[in-house]
Amino acid sequence: MTYFDYNATTPVDKQVLDAMLPFFSEQFGNAASTTHAFGWYAQGAVEKAREQVAAFIGAEPTEIVWTSGATESINLALKGVFEAYRSKGNHLVTCVTEHKAVLDTCAYLEEQGAEITYLPVDREGRVDLEQLANSIGSKTILVALMAANNETGVLHDLEAIGTICRDKEVLFFSDTTQRAGKLPIDVQDMKLDLCCLSAHKLYGPKGAGALYVRRKGPRVNLMPLIHGGGHEQGRRSGTLNVPGIVGLGKACEMAATEFWDNNGHISKIRAYLEHQLLDIPGLTINGSTRHRLYNTSNLYFPVLKDGTKVFSHLKNHYAVSLGSACTSALAEPSHVLKAMQLSQTESENSIRFSFGKGNTINEVEKISALILSLYS
Ligand SMILES: *Cc1c(COP(=O)(O)O)cnc(C)c1O
Repeated sequence: MTYFDYNATTPVDKQVLDAMLPFFSEQFGNAASTTHAFGWYAQGAVEKAREQVAAFIGAEPTEIVWTSGATESINLALKGVFEAYRSKGNHLVTCVTEHKAVLDTCAYLEEQGAEITYLPVDREGRVDLEQLANSIGSKTILVALMAANNETGVLHDLEAIGTICRDKEVLFFSDTTQRAGKLPIDVQDMKLDLCCLSAHKLYGPKGAGALYVRRKGPRVNLMPLIHGGGHEQGRRSGTLNVPGIVGLGKACEMAATEFWDNNGHISKIRAYLEHQLLDIPGLTINGSTRHRLYNTSNLYFPVLKDGTKVFSHLKNHYAVSLGSACTSALAEPSHVLKAMQLSQTESENSIRFSFGKGNTINEVEKISALILSLYS
């Protein structure tokens, strides 16, 4: 099997694993134990990781809250802001192509009395900034728009969105899970008030994540989801996952130094695949090709002459994805592709390739040749 599904998850990097290992056994202390050296050592490692994560996004260490991953961070951001700002308003603005973690949380908040505007996207998968600005009213408390789409790689213009939100004095949360480790994130330049990370999307372990919560200009208030002990300044209780946090910190540190090497290597791999496959009549790239992560290729494949789908010829040897991994258990066409006005057939015949640092040109040469042979 060849792995082309790095947007679903990534393997833990060897250096990240090495950094984590001592904290499972010899250094097993509870970071909240203040009465002995086992606790102090664990706490020191957690605080070092907090600095690594903060530096990675241009934040202060005190602005980082540890969570179990992006889904929990998103829940804390949306529910936490909604609860804390209820007296100011009940209106949130988001977009139809967000990850289910955002959309399902919004649906829950609607049951709790929230009013949500779901901005549409154009055929390229992007929101209209004028429409965004017009959707913000006196009751709006938060805008939630993702940095990079997990299915198509389409990027939103965070600087422009952040500027609109700051001018209108509403908070801006961005799901930066897919952008992290692929392109820079700067919470000051992008005027982000909240954003989230998931370790397993950037060569770290599963079950570790973070939420950035701005402390000044403006200071963001959050109602916690999880009570019990007051860890993380009361924002998220529970004994910390020390090995996971150490892994997330190391993964962020490595991503910051490896950025440009990986970027060049992975861009070449995707360019090779698309260059080869664009010879197939009717094949199209889903989503903006100008504003897109360099590792993601979401392609519509015309049905083969014998009526079969390309995916059925790949699935035994290549790990690729149909729609998004999180919803592919349900036999539903992708909500992202549907929102971009693809027909049911186009959406069902689209495949996501997402490359990572373990891939080689040789691997894409092989899959390109296989796919081209299906059409010849
Ligand atoms: C993977 C992903 C999530 C969920 O992250 P988990 O850490 O697996 O909960 C949320 N948003 C986007 C864009 C993702 O790609």
